[in-house]
Amino acid sequence: MPPKHLKPADNVQIQLADIEDCRVHAINDPNCQRNQGFLKDLNGWSEKTDQLFIWTYMTDFRYFDLPFPSLKAIGPTFNYYAHHGVKGVFAQAHGGSTSGDLSDLRVYVIARCLWNPERDSWQEALDFCRLHYGKAAPAVIEYLEFIHQNAEQKGIHPACFATPRQLGLDREVALKLLSIFEKALNMAENETIRQRVEKISLSAWRTLLEAGAEFKVDGDRLKRVYPEPYQNAVDRYIALAEKHKLTMPDERTRWSEFKTILQEQYQKGLPISALENQFWRLVFDRQNGRIIELLYKPRQINFLLAYEANFRYGTFEEWFGEKMEHKQFVGPWKISKSNNQLTLQRKLENGSLYQRSLPLTQKILK
Ligand SMILES: [Zn+2]
Repeated sequence: MPPKHLKPADNVQIQLADIEDCRVHAINDPNCQRNQGFLKDLNGWSEKTDQLFIWTYMTDFRYFDLPFPSLKAIGPTFNYYAHHGVKGVFAQAHGGSTSGDLSDLRVYVIARCLWNPERDSWQEALDFCRLHYGKAAPAVIEYLEFIHQNAEQKGIHPACFATPRQLGLDREVALKLLSIFEKALNMAENETIRQRVEKISLSAWRTLLEAGAEFKVDGDRLKRVYPEPYQNAVDRYIALAEKHKLTMPDERTRWSEFKTILQEQYQKGLPISALENQFWRLVFDRQNGRIIELLYKPRQINFLLAYEANFRYGTFEEWFGEKMEHKQFVGPWKISKSNNQLTLQRKLENGSLYQRSLPLTQKILK
């Protein structure tokens, strides 16, 4: 929000970051409530200065390779900026990898619309498909149309750190996307086109990995079960990601680290302890001591978002005044269970003992 009484000097540049904005809808789309705050800030600043710049976000920084339905919003947003006092735009996408969702197409569309903000980003995207995907173009366009229609139908407004659910992804979507890419691969007229299509099919496989599994408690492991015929989804994804050089699956994680997570958590299953009675099931990640499931059994409602994510977000965890690191396990925890109580103990770096007891009593359940 601009200051009420101050005005920046002529030699001061103001750069606004639209980080909170919805990526499905243009900045001035009256149907998108999420963008109204930034729109107001922008208009306020444009009255204060003619040295206005924007830092904008063009991917999901937690999941570079999940389908990101932003291609209709890019053009009109840049157009609005150009006509409302903005001098320049820095557009940040998945710079850590050239195999994020539609990397090649996305860079093309962004560059074309930055060069000339009168361009229609959706038409640019369709053009790229026709120029780059040969006879498979109609199927790739079907993918683009599907992810954008899905976003509109579900009424989602994801920003640039969205979870799979916030992106409108679920098992049904994953299966649809896989079928579109199977068709696209069959339509490819030569190996070059086929490889291009295969590369962007990574988004469909990642959707399946993140949003397509059913979770099953199997002894002391929480396992992901993928639908037929995709039981080997993790292997297929790893092979594709390595072939097409997915160097980083998100803003913070290198491929080698993610591969280990896939093999340990997605394939073998996450080591867990569970606490259960007739109403609730609480599941704890043994490595991090986090609560990753809070299931109310009578209605099968899970009160944590962990199941839609990758166990790094949407979980309950505690910090110890030590460095917090999403990627690494903070354990080891010593976990003991008696009747309806779970006790987690962990020795901290300063030698003190941290203990957390979690009782599940009938009194607090209903
Ligand atoms: Zn929106």
